Amino acid sequence: MTRRTYVTIGAGQAAAVAARTLRRRGFDGRIVLIGDEPHPPYQRPPLSKEFLAGVDGEDSLWILPPKWVADNDIDIVTGASVARVDTLSGAVELDGGAPVAADAVLFATGGSARRLTVPGPRPDLVHYLRTLEDARRLAPLLTPGRRLALIGGGFIGLEIAATAASSGAAVTVVETDPVPLGRIVGPQMGELVAQLHRDNGIDIRCGAPVSGVRTTAEGVLIDIEGAAAPVEADAVVVGIGMVPNVGTAIASGLQVDNGIVVDAAGRTSVPNVYAAGDVARRFSARAGRHVRLEHFDNASRQGAAVAHAMLGRDAVCDEPNWFWSDQFGRNLQFVGTARGEPVIRGDRDTLEFTAFYFDGGTLCGAFTVERGEDIAAARELLGRTVDASTLCDDDVDLFDLVYDEEPELEAQVRT
Ligand code: NAP
Repeated sequence: MTRRTYVTIGAGQAAAVAARTLRRRGFDGRIVLIGDEPHPPYQRPPLSKEFLAGVDGEDSLWILPPKWVADNDIDIVTGASVARVDTLSGAVELDGGAPVAADAVLFATGGSARRLTVPGPRPDLVHYLRTLEDARRLAPLLTPGRRLALIGGGFIGLEIAATAASSGAAVTVVETDPVPLGRIVGPQMGELVAQLHRDNGIDIRCGAPVSGVRTTAEGVLIDIEGAAAPVEADAVVVGIGMVPNVGTAIASGLQVDNGIVVDAAGRTSVPNVYAAGDVARRFSARAGRHVRLEHFDNASRQGAAVAHAMLGRDAVCDEPNWFWSDQFGRNLQFVGTARGEPVIRGDRDTLEFTAFYFDGGTLCGAFTVERGEDIAAARELLGRTVDASTLCDDDVDLFDLVYDEEPELEAQVRT
C-alpha cells in the first residue's frame, strides 16, 4: 500500500496540533506542514507579552520541539505560499515549486492583522503585531520615554500597551468604542480593565474613531474624530482586529463566508478537505449556528479534533470560548459570553475577583482577575441555572455546585 500524505496549508497553532495529534493517534503516512512565514510553528500569545518584553526568547516559542519533528518525520516547509488546491486530484499547488500530492488537506491559514484604512503616515512608523517578524520589529521601540500610540483597545492593543508601559514607554490607546473590550467582556469589566491601564499611566481615549495619521518631523500625529487636538507619538501600533486568510480557499472553490465554512468536525463540503483554527467557521451545536473563534485555545482544540476527523473518527470539539491575558502582572481570563450586569465574587477593588454573567437565570459567562481557579468551575457551570448569591459567596466552593448537579463529573474535573 502506498504511504498516504496529509498536508496542512498554514503552519500555525491549529496545524501544529493537528500534526502532533495525527502522529500520536497512529497516522504513519507523510505529514507536510506548509507555511508562508520563515519559521516553524510558533506560539503567538507571548508575542505581545513575554517575548515583546524580552523576558522569553525565541526558543520558548516553538510549538513542536525540533527533536520531536525529526523523530516523527514531520516535513515543515517554510516560506512557501499555496496558490490553490486542486480538490479533484488532491494536488496542492504552490506559488512556484512542484505541487504536493495530498490524500487529505487541512486549511489552517489563520488570519492577518486588519489594516488601517485612513490616510496614514510613513510606513516605517506604523506597526502591527501578528507575526514573529512584527514582534521583532516592534520590540526595540519599547524603551523608556518613547511615545507609542496604540490604535485599537482590543486584546492586542491592551497587551502591547501594558508591555510597553512596563518598559517605560509613554503610551496612549485610541479606541472607537466607548469602553475598551466592552464588546467582549461587557462595559463594566471593560471599564475596570481601562482603569487598570490608567492607574499604570496609560492615556486611554475612547468613543471616537481615528480619522487620519500624519507624519511630522518628530513622529506621528493621530487625528481623532471630534477631538480638539491630535495625539502625538513617535510611532503608531495598530491592533484593530484580524481578517481570516481565505484567498487560497476561495481559489480552491471552497465555501467561504467570513471564514471557511465547515461542519462541527471541521469538514468542508469537499471530501478530504478540512479547516481549523482562526480561519474556520464551524457549526457549533452549543451556539446553534456557525461560529468563528480567534483564540489560541480554539485553534488547539480544533486542531486536535480535526486530526481525528482526518483519521475517519468522530471528534467534535464544541467547548465554550476561553482565553486569558496578562496585563500589569494581573492574569485575566474569560469563558463563555458576556451579557448584562455581572455579579461579583471576591474583591473588585483589590483586583482579585470573578464576575459571573447571566442570560435569564442561566450562567453564560465568567471573567476573572487573578482567580484562574474559578474559571475551571465556571466552565462546568455554564448553561446551568445557578443562584447568583450562592456564586458570590466566597465561602462556597464552586466545585461543590458543579458536583451537586452532576456528581458523575467529579472524577473528570478533579483529575
Ligand atoms: P479585536 O479584539 O477585534 O480588537 C480591536 C479593537 O479595535 C476593537 O475594540 C475595535 O472596535 C477597535 N477598532 C477598530 N477599528 C478602529 C479604529 N479605526 N480606531 C480605533 N479603534 C478601532 O482585535 P485585536 O485586539 O487586534 O486582536 C486580533 C485578534 O487576536 C483577535 O481575535 C483577538 O481576540 C486575538 N488576540 C487574543 C489575545 C488573547 O486572547 N489574550 C491577545 C491578542 C490577540 P470595534 O469593536 O468597534 O470594531
